[in-house]
Amino acid sequence: MPPGLITEANDPPETHRGVTLSTQSHSGQVRRRDGVRLRPEPFGALVYVPDRDHFVALDRKAAHLLDTGDVENRALAAELVRVGVLDIPSVPEKRFRFGRALIGDFPDLPEVTEPLVVNAFATALCPLRCGYCHADDLMQPFRAGETDDDVDRVAMTAAAVPAMVAVITGGDPILRPDRTERLIMALAPEKAIVIDTSGAGDITPLLPALKSVQGHLRVSVDSADAAVHDRLRPINPRLLARGTSSHAAAWTTIRRAVAADIATTVQTVVSSANEDRAALLALARRLAGEGIRQWVLHVAVPAGRAAEPRSHRLLPSGDVSRLLDDVLAEIDADATLCGLRVRVTATHTSPNAVLLVGSRGDVYAETGPGGKVRVAAATGDRDTLRRLFQDRIDRRAHADRYLGGTDPQWA
Ligand code: SF4
Repeated sequence: MPPGLITEANDPPETHRGVTLSTQSHSGQVRRRDGVRLRPEPFGALVYVPDRDHFVALDRKAAHLLDTGDVENRALAAELVRVGVLDIPSVPEKRFRFGRALIGDFPDLPEVTEPLVVNAFATALCPLRCGYCHADDLMQPFRAGETDDDVDRVAMTAAAVPAMVAVITGGDPILRPDRTERLIMALAPEKAIVIDTSGAGDITPLLPALKSVQGHLRVSVDSADAAVHDRLRPINPRLLARGTSSHAAAWTTIRRAVAADIATTVQTVVSSANEDRAALLALARRLAGEGIRQWVLHVAVPAGRAAEPRSHRLLPSGDVSRLLDDVLAEIDADATLCGLRVRVTATHTSPNAVLLVGSRGDVYAETGPGGKVRVAAATGDRDTLRRLFQDRIDRRAHADRYLGGTDPQWA
């Protein structure tokens, strides 16, 4: 047994909150949880936890622990359990709260030379017309004449981006399962897969592919109240039958995904329409009751359609941070909600933090209030895309976005 390794015999899980030997261990050493991806970095490593759809940066000591399974440093091992990297059941889930995801000694955000995430548009079509949509500028001009060749260019470009995770988005991937499945299969050999959907369609054809690659599903729900959600996320009557409830459709999608054992996150845009303690707690209870373990809250910011004067009414008040802090504290204190992992994304918009492949395969940078800027044509040249990331993307802002944000409120 390596020095410091703790076994179930000398450290039984029911009597403490320390670290035990994983029962799934093969070699007698603690191992990382299923599906966890690691990329060595000069500072240590970047890790992606697929069932939580969560990145963590490790310093060299933490990366070494993960590499060797030697848990001499109990506190560090417990941190790796807390963030879902190691599977040691004696550290309770309820103690986990998303926050700044740096494990070890980091005087500052680590510098990354390759992207963590590439966002790839499966289609420019979307069944909804949300008032705060950020993707409108990559949807409306590209809808007419969408062809099957387009998706091959998206796959070629996104596959060549040296990212750990591909988020398949749009438009809505659920509307074009044929294109989405092609992207899943093209990108999964190297990248973890996330599907980002409104849920307003039939997820069934995508479940086998998603399951086969241990993919993660994100579905948007803005309220437990159908009327509020349907008002915030109205349907596009050209693509869905009049009278369709986007809320009912989202819940059908969620239930199908949970029944298929697909790791599922519900994401909620916090706007003036749902900026309410009781309403958010009602949604938290509904999520927990439906078996959802992950809830991500995005505060609406003046970007995309929400930057237009007619949508300003959707922006939340200046007190939204305090409100969300109260909601999180109530969730932590409620025994029925302790299994719900909640993340609040940062409220600032950083220009050039996000890399996108549009529905025709070209590459864009998200400039925040300025919208998307095309930075390269479709290409399968990895070196070109690596250089592009280093030259055109704000790498600090990119790392910040995916490692928990810098807003001290949530750090
Ligand atoms: S579902 Fe997403 S892409 Fe579609 S309109 Fe709403 S925010 Fe935009």
